[in-house]
Amino acid sequence: ERMISGDLQETDQEIELSLRPETLNQYIGQDLSKNNLRIFIEAAKMRDEPLDHALLYGPPGLGKTTLASIIANEMGVQFRTTAGPAIERAGDLAAILSSLEPGDVLFIDEIHRLPRSVEEVLYPAMEDFCLDIVVGNGPSARSVRLDLPPFTLVGATTRAGLLSAPLRDRFGVHCRLDYYDTNALRSIVERTAEIFGVDIDKDAAVEVARRSRGTPRIANRLLKRVRDIAQVKGEDVVSKETTQHALEMLQVDAEGLDFIDHKLLKGIMDGFQGGPVGLDTISATIGEESQTIEDVYEPFLLQIGFIQRTPRGRVVTPKAYTHFNREVPGS
Ligand code: ATP
Repeated sequence: ERMISGDLQETDQEIELSLRPETLNQYIGQDLSKNNLRIFIEAAKMRDEPLDHALLYGPPGLGKTTLASIIANEMGVQFRTTAGPAIERAGDLAAILSSLEPGDVLFIDEIHRLPRSVEEVLYPAMEDFCLDIVVGNGPSARSVRLDLPPFTLVGATTRAGLLSAPLRDRFGVHCRLDYYDTNALRSIVERTAEIFGVDIDKDAAVEVARRSRGTPRIANRLLKRVRDIAQVKGEDVVSKETTQHALEMLQVDAEGLDFIDHKLLKGIMDGFQGGPVGLDTISATIGEESQTIEDVYEPFLLQIGFIQRTPRGRVVTPKAYTHFNREVPGS
Protein backbone atom coordinates (compact mmCIF):
# COMPACT_ATOMS: atom_id res chain seq x y z
CA GLU A 1 0.00 0.00 0.00
CA ARG A 2 1.26 3.45 -0.88
CA MET A 3 1.96 5.72 2.05
CA ILE A 4 0.59 8.64 0.06
CA SER A 5 -2.63 7.04 -1.18
CA GLY A 6 -5.83 8.86 -0.21
CA ASP A 7 -7.71 5.56 0.03
CA LEU A 8 -8.62 4.23 3.45
CA GLN A 9 -6.05 1.70 4.72
CA GLU A 10 -6.38 -0.72 7.58
CA THR A 11 -4.08 1.23 9.88
CA ASP A 12 -6.08 4.45 9.31
CA GLN A 13 -9.18 2.96 10.81
CA GLU A 14 -7.84 2.76 14.33
CA ILE A 15 -7.15 6.49 14.44
CA GLU A 16 -9.77 8.06 12.21
CA LEU A 17 -12.81 7.81 14.44
CA SER A 18 -11.05 9.61 17.27
CA LEU A 19 -9.89 12.34 14.89
CA ARG A 20 -13.23 13.05 13.28
CA PRO A 21 -14.37 16.64 13.90
CA GLU A 22 -17.94 16.82 15.20
CA THR A 23 -19.10 20.31 14.25
CA LEU A 24 -18.76 22.60 11.23
CA ASN A 25 -16.58 24.90 13.34
CA GLN A 26 -14.12 22.08 14.03
CA TYR A 27 -14.04 21.12 10.34
CA ILE A 28 -11.01 22.87 8.88
CA GLY A 29 -10.96 24.37 5.35
CA GLN A 30 -13.47 23.76 2.53
CA ASP A 31 -14.94 27.17 3.31
CA LEU A 32 -17.28 27.32 0.35
CA SER A 33 -18.98 24.01 1.10
CA LYS A 34 -18.98 24.75 4.81
CA ASN A 35 -20.58 28.18 4.47
CA ASN A 36 -23.27 26.90 2.12
CA LEU A 37 -24.06 23.98 4.40
CA ARG A 38 -24.21 26.25 7.44
CA ILE A 39 -26.96 28.32 5.80
CA PHE A 40 -28.91 25.33 4.46
CA ILE A 41 -28.79 23.60 7.86
CA GLU A 42 -29.92 26.73 9.67
CA ALA A 43 -32.80 27.25 7.22
CA ALA A 44 -33.92 23.61 7.42
CA LYS A 45 -33.89 23.77 11.21
CA MET A 46 -35.96 26.98 11.17
CA ARG A 47 -38.54 25.28 8.95
CA ASP A 48 -38.36 22.18 11.11
CA GLU A 49 -37.69 20.08 8.01
CA PRO A 50 -34.88 17.68 7.13
CA LEU A 51 -32.03 19.11 5.10
CA ASP A 52 -32.29 18.67 1.30
CA HIS A 53 -30.48 15.62 -0.05
CA ALA A 54 -26.80 16.43 -0.42
CA LEU A 55 -24.15 15.09 -2.80
CA LEU A 56 -20.50 15.36 -1.67
CA TYR A 57 -17.87 14.67 -4.27
CA GLY A 58 -14.10 14.84 -4.51
CA PRO A 59 -10.97 12.67 -4.24
CA PRO A 60 -10.61 10.07 -1.45
CA GLY A 61 -9.60 11.13 2.05
CA LEU A 62 -10.72 14.76 1.82
CA GLY A 63 -13.43 14.44 4.47
CA LYS A 64 -16.69 13.45 2.81
CA THR A 65 -17.71 10.94 5.47
CA THR A 66 -16.66 13.40 8.15
CA LEU A 67 -18.76 16.19 6.64
CA ALA A 68 -21.77 13.88 6.34
CA SER A 69 -21.53 12.94 10.01
CA ILE A 70 -21.23 16.62 10.90
CA ILE A 71 -24.43 17.36 8.95
CA ALA A 72 -26.28 14.77 11.05
CA ASN A 73 -24.76 16.16 14.22
CA GLU A 74 -25.61 19.78 13.38
CA MET A 75 -29.17 18.74 12.46
CA GLY A 76 -29.40 16.83 15.74
CA VAL A 77 -30.38 13.54 14.07
CA GLN A 78 -29.05 9.99 13.77
CA PHE A 79 -26.27 9.21 11.30
CA ARG A 80 -26.76 5.95 9.41
CA THR A 81 -24.11 4.77 6.99
CA THR A 82 -23.82 2.30 4.17
CA ALA A 83 -22.00 2.07 0.84
CA GLY A 84 -22.98 1.53 -2.79
CA PRO A 85 -21.24 -1.84 -3.17
CA ALA A 86 -22.87 -3.13 0.05
CA ILE A 87 -26.39 -2.75 -1.35
CA GLU A 88 -26.81 -5.49 -3.91
CA ARG A 89 -30.56 -5.81 -4.20
CA ALA A 90 -33.49 -3.40 -4.12
CA GLY A 91 -34.74 -5.21 -1.01
CA ASP A 92 -31.52 -4.37 0.88
CA LEU A 93 -32.12 -0.67 0.34
CA ALA A 94 -35.83 -0.97 1.14
CA ALA A 95 -34.89 -2.55 4.49
CA ILE A 96 -32.53 0.30 5.32
CA LEU A 97 -34.97 3.02 4.26
CA SER A 98 -37.88 1.57 6.17
CA SER A 99 -35.83 1.47 9.37
CA LEU A 100 -35.05 5.21 9.33
CA GLU A 101 -36.36 7.57 12.00
CA PRO A 102 -37.84 10.92 10.95
CA GLY A 103 -35.10 13.38 9.96
CA ASP A 104 -32.26 10.81 9.93
CA VAL A 105 -29.24 11.30 7.71
CA LEU A 106 -28.59 8.24 5.54
CA PHE A 107 -25.04 8.32 4.18
CA ILE A 108 -24.27 6.24 1.09
CA ASP A 109 -20.55 6.20 0.34
CA GLU A 110 -19.43 5.37 -3.21
CA ILE A 111 -22.97 6.05 -4.39
CA HIS A 112 -21.85 5.74 -8.02
CA ARG A 113 -21.50 2.00 -7.41
CA LEU A 114 -25.18 1.40 -6.63
CA PRO A 115 -26.73 -1.11 -9.03
CA ARG A 116 -29.25 0.49 -11.40
CA SER A 117 -32.15 -1.59 -10.02
CA VAL A 118 -31.38 -0.26 -6.52
CA GLU A 119 -31.05 3.28 -7.80
CA GLU A 120 -34.60 3.13 -9.10
CA VAL A 121 -35.89 2.44 -5.59
CA LEU A 122 -34.13 5.61 -4.47
CA TYR A 123 -35.95 7.94 -6.85
CA PRO A 124 -39.42 7.87 -5.21
CA ALA A 125 -37.78 7.58 -1.79
CA MET A 126 -35.83 10.80 -2.35
CA GLU A 127 -38.63 12.65 -4.11
CA ASP A 128 -41.79 11.66 -2.27
CA PHE A 129 -40.48 9.73 0.76
CA CYS A 130 -42.14 6.51 -0.32
CA LEU A 131 -41.23 3.04 -1.50
CA ASP A 132 -42.88 1.26 -4.41
CA ILE A 133 -42.74 -2.44 -3.69
CA VAL A 134 -43.93 -5.24 -5.96
CA VAL A 135 -45.67 -8.00 -4.04
CA GLY A 136 -46.60 -11.38 -5.49
CA ASN A 137 -45.51 -13.05 -8.70
CA GLY A 138 -46.69 -13.31 -12.27
CA PRO A 139 -50.18 -12.07 -13.13
CA SER A 140 -51.13 -11.51 -9.50
CA ALA A 141 -48.14 -9.21 -8.85
CA ARG A 142 -49.05 -5.69 -7.85
CA SER A 143 -47.28 -2.61 -6.69
CA VAL A 144 -47.75 -1.34 -3.16
CA ARG A 145 -46.69 2.12 -2.04
CA LEU A 146 -45.22 2.44 1.46
CA ASP A 147 -44.66 5.79 3.17
CA LEU A 148 -41.24 6.56 4.61
CA PRO A 149 -40.33 9.11 7.25
CA PRO A 150 -38.77 12.26 5.77
CA PHE A 151 -34.98 11.84 5.74
CA THR A 152 -31.84 13.33 4.22
CA LEU A 153 -29.77 11.27 1.84
CA VAL A 154 -26.12 12.26 1.77
CA GLY A 155 -24.30 10.60 -1.11
CA ALA A 156 -20.53 10.62 -1.49
CA THR A 157 -18.56 9.85 -4.61
CA THR A 158 -15.05 10.19 -5.95
CA ARG A 159 -16.47 9.93 -9.48
CA ALA A 160 -19.34 12.42 -9.87
CA GLY A 161 -19.15 11.91 -13.64
CA LEU A 162 -20.25 8.30 -13.24
CA LEU A 163 -23.49 9.24 -11.50
CA SER A 164 -26.61 8.91 -13.64
CA ALA A 165 -28.31 12.21 -14.44
CA PRO A 166 -31.65 11.26 -12.77
CA LEU A 167 -29.85 10.46 -9.52
CA ARG A 168 -27.63 13.54 -9.63
CA ASP A 169 -30.62 15.79 -10.27
CA ARG A 170 -32.41 14.57 -7.15
CA PHE A 171 -29.77 16.11 -4.88
CA GLY A 172 -30.66 19.67 -3.91
CA VAL A 173 -27.26 20.42 -2.42
CA HIS A 174 -24.01 19.73 -4.31
CA CYS A 175 -20.67 20.18 -2.51
CA ARG A 176 -17.37 19.70 -4.28
CA LEU A 177 -14.48 19.10 -1.89
CA ASP A 178 -11.11 20.37 -3.10
CA TYR A 179 -7.57 19.47 -2.12
CA TYR A 180 -6.54 21.43 1.01
CA ASP A 181 -3.87 24.10 0.93
CA THR A 182 -0.80 23.84 3.14
CA ASN A 183 -2.21 26.23 5.73
CA ALA A 184 -5.41 24.26 6.25
CA LEU A 185 -3.47 20.99 6.36
CA ARG A 186 -1.08 22.45 8.90
CA SER A 187 -4.06 23.26 11.15
CA ILE A 188 -5.32 19.69 10.69
CA VAL A 189 -1.87 18.32 11.59
CA GLU A 190 -1.72 20.53 14.70
CA ARG A 191 -5.23 19.51 15.74
CA THR A 192 -4.38 15.82 15.29
CA ALA A 193 -1.12 16.26 17.24
CA GLU A 194 -3.12 17.77 20.10
CA ILE A 195 -5.52 14.82 20.13
CA PHE A 196 -2.50 12.44 20.08
CA GLY A 197 -1.05 14.44 23.00
CA VAL A 198 2.07 15.28 20.99
CA ASP A 199 3.92 18.62 20.85
CA ILE A 200 4.98 19.49 17.34
CA ASP A 201 7.11 22.36 16.13
CA LYS A 202 5.33 24.76 13.77
CA ASP A 203 7.81 24.11 10.93
CA ALA A 204 7.49 20.38 11.44
CA ALA A 205 3.71 20.64 11.06
CA VAL A 206 4.19 22.63 7.85
CA GLU A 207 6.56 19.93 6.58
CA VAL A 208 3.99 17.18 7.14
CA ALA A 209 1.29 19.38 5.55
CA ARG A 210 3.41 20.04 2.45
CA ARG A 211 4.02 16.38 1.78
CA SER A 212 0.42 15.26 2.28
CA ARG A 213 -0.88 15.83 -1.25
CA GLY A 214 -3.63 18.15 -0.07
CA THR A 215 -5.32 15.27 1.77
CA PRO A 216 -6.15 15.15 5.52
CA ARG A 217 -6.13 11.35 5.60
CA ILE A 218 -2.55 11.31 4.32
CA ALA A 219 -1.53 14.12 6.71
CA ASN A 220 -2.85 12.18 9.71
CA ARG A 221 -1.21 8.96 8.50
CA LEU A 222 2.18 10.64 8.00
CA LEU A 223 1.96 12.40 11.36
CA LYS A 224 1.37 9.09 13.09
CA ARG A 225 4.57 7.67 11.63
CA VAL A 226 6.56 10.83 12.33
CA ARG A 227 5.35 10.74 15.93
CA ASP A 228 6.59 7.15 16.32
CA ILE A 229 10.05 8.07 15.07
CA ALA A 230 10.24 11.21 17.27
CA GLN A 231 9.18 9.10 20.25
CA VAL A 232 11.89 6.49 19.63
CA LYS A 233 14.41 9.34 19.37
CA GLY A 234 13.15 10.66 22.72
CA GLU A 235 12.14 14.03 21.30
CA ASP A 236 9.74 16.06 23.50
CA VAL A 237 8.74 18.40 20.71
CA VAL A 238 8.67 16.89 17.22
CA SER A 239 11.27 18.84 15.23
CA LYS A 240 11.46 19.74 11.56
CA GLU A 241 14.67 17.73 11.14
CA THR A 242 13.15 14.56 12.56
CA THR A 243 10.07 15.09 10.43
CA GLN A 244 12.15 15.44 7.27
CA HIS A 245 14.22 12.42 8.20
CA ALA A 246 11.12 10.34 8.98
CA LEU A 247 9.44 11.27 5.72
CA GLU A 248 12.58 10.46 3.76
CA MET A 249 12.61 7.05 5.43
CA LEU A 250 9.02 6.63 4.33
CA GLN A 251 10.12 7.60 0.79
CA VAL A 252 7.84 10.61 0.65
CA ASP A 253 9.72 13.50 -0.97
CA ALA A 254 9.36 17.26 -0.42
CA GLU A 255 6.37 17.48 -2.79
CA GLY A 256 4.68 14.36 -1.39
CA LEU A 257 5.81 12.15 -4.28
CA ASP A 258 6.82 8.52 -3.78
CA PHE A 259 8.75 5.94 -5.80
CA ILE A 260 5.85 5.29 -8.16
CA ASP A 261 5.57 8.98 -9.06
CA HIS A 262 9.34 9.04 -9.54
CA LYS A 263 9.22 5.96 -11.75
CA LEU A 264 6.51 7.54 -13.91
CA LEU A 265 8.18 10.95 -14.25
CA LYS A 266 11.69 9.57 -14.76
CA GLY A 267 10.32 7.04 -17.26
CA ILE A 268 9.08 9.91 -19.45
CA MET A 269 12.15 12.08 -18.86
CA ASP A 270 14.71 9.33 -19.52
CA GLY A 271 12.91 7.36 -22.22
CA PHE A 272 11.16 10.10 -24.18
CA GLN A 273 13.00 13.36 -23.50
CA GLY A 274 10.07 14.47 -21.39
CA GLY A 275 7.39 13.64 -23.97
CA PRO A 276 4.91 14.01 -25.50
CA VAL A 277 4.35 10.29 -25.18
CA GLY A 278 1.15 8.25 -25.31
CA LEU A 279 -0.32 6.64 -22.21
CA ASP A 280 -0.01 3.10 -23.58
CA THR A 281 3.67 3.62 -24.35
CA ILE A 282 4.30 4.89 -20.82
CA SER A 283 2.37 1.92 -19.49
CA ALA A 284 4.53 -0.55 -21.44
CA THR A 285 7.72 1.21 -20.41
CA ILE A 286 7.14 1.35 -16.67
CA GLY A 287 5.05 -1.82 -16.38
CA GLU A 288 1.91 -0.28 -14.88
CA GLU A 289 -1.59 -0.47 -16.35
CA SER A 290 -2.74 2.53 -18.40
CA GLN A 291 -5.98 2.75 -16.43
CA THR A 292 -4.13 2.78 -13.10
CA ILE A 293 -1.77 5.48 -14.36
CA GLU A 294 -4.71 7.58 -15.50
CA ASP A 295 -6.95 7.08 -12.44
CA VAL A 296 -4.48 6.77 -9.58
CA TYR A 297 -0.99 8.09 -10.36
CA GLU A 298 -1.59 10.90 -12.77
CA PRO A 299 -4.29 13.13 -11.14
CA PHE A 300 -2.01 14.51 -8.44
CA LEU A 301 0.88 15.05 -10.88
CA LEU A 302 -1.51 16.97 -13.15
CA GLN A 303 -2.85 18.89 -10.16
CA ILE A 304 0.61 20.10 -9.09
CA GLY A 305 1.60 20.84 -12.68
CA PHE A 306 4.34 18.20 -13.05
CA ILE A 307 2.61 16.59 -16.04
CA GLN A 308 0.52 18.06 -18.81
CA ARG A 309 -1.89 16.29 -21.09
CA THR A 310 -1.58 17.32 -24.71
CA PRO A 311 -3.28 15.95 -27.84
CA ARG A 312 -0.02 14.13 -28.65
CA GLY A 313 0.41 12.59 -25.21
CA ARG A 314 1.82 13.33 -21.76
CA VAL A 315 4.54 15.91 -21.24
CA VAL A 316 6.72 16.36 -18.15
CA THR A 317 6.85 20.09 -17.31
CA PRO A 318 9.89 22.26 -16.49
CA LYS A 319 8.59 22.41 -12.90
CA ALA A 320 9.12 18.65 -12.58
CA TYR A 321 12.62 18.86 -14.10
CA THR A 322 13.49 21.52 -11.51
CA HIS A 323 12.16 19.30 -8.73
CA PHE A 324 14.62 16.59 -9.79
CA ASN A 325 17.44 19.16 -10.18
CA ARG A 326 17.63 18.40 -13.87
CA GLU A 327 18.13 20.71 -16.77
CA VAL A 328 14.97 21.34 -18.79
CA PRO A 329 15.49 19.89 -22.32
CA GLY A 330 15.97 22.58 -24.96
CA SER A 331 16.58 25.35 -22.43
P1 ATP B 1 -13.30 8.27 1.46
O1 ATP B 1 -13.04 8.75 0.09
O2 ATP B 1 -12.46 7.10 1.87
O3 ATP B 1 -14.75 8.10 1.74
P2 ATP B 1 -13.50 10.68 2.96
O4 ATP B 1 -13.42 11.78 1.94
O5 ATP B 1 -14.86 10.30 3.41
O6 ATP B 1 -12.74 9.44 2.43
P3 ATP B 1 -12.93 11.04 5.75
O7 ATP B 1 -12.98 9.61 6.18
O8 ATP B 1 -14.11 11.87 6.06
O9 ATP B 1 -12.60 11.12 4.19
O10 ATP B 1 -11.64 11.79 6.32
C1 ATP B 1 -10.38 11.16 6.49
C2 ATP B 1 -9.73 11.60 7.78
O11 ATP B 1 -9.34 12.96 7.67
C3 ATP B 1 -10.63 11.53 9.00
O12 ATP B 1 -9.90 10.98 10.06
C4 ATP B 1 -10.97 12.95 9.35
O13 ATP B 1 -11.00 13.11 10.74
C5 ATP B 1 -9.86 13.74 8.74
N1 ATP B 1 -10.42 14.99 8.16
C6 ATP B 1 -11.00 15.10 6.97
N2 ATP B 1 -11.38 16.35 6.72
C7 ATP B 1 -11.04 17.07 7.80
C8 ATP B 1 -11.15 18.46 8.14
N3 ATP B 1 -11.70 19.33 7.29
N4 ATP B 1 -10.70 18.85 9.33
C9 ATP B 1 -10.13 17.98 10.17
N5 ATP B 1 -9.97 16.66 9.90
C10 ATP B 1 -10.42 16.20 8.73
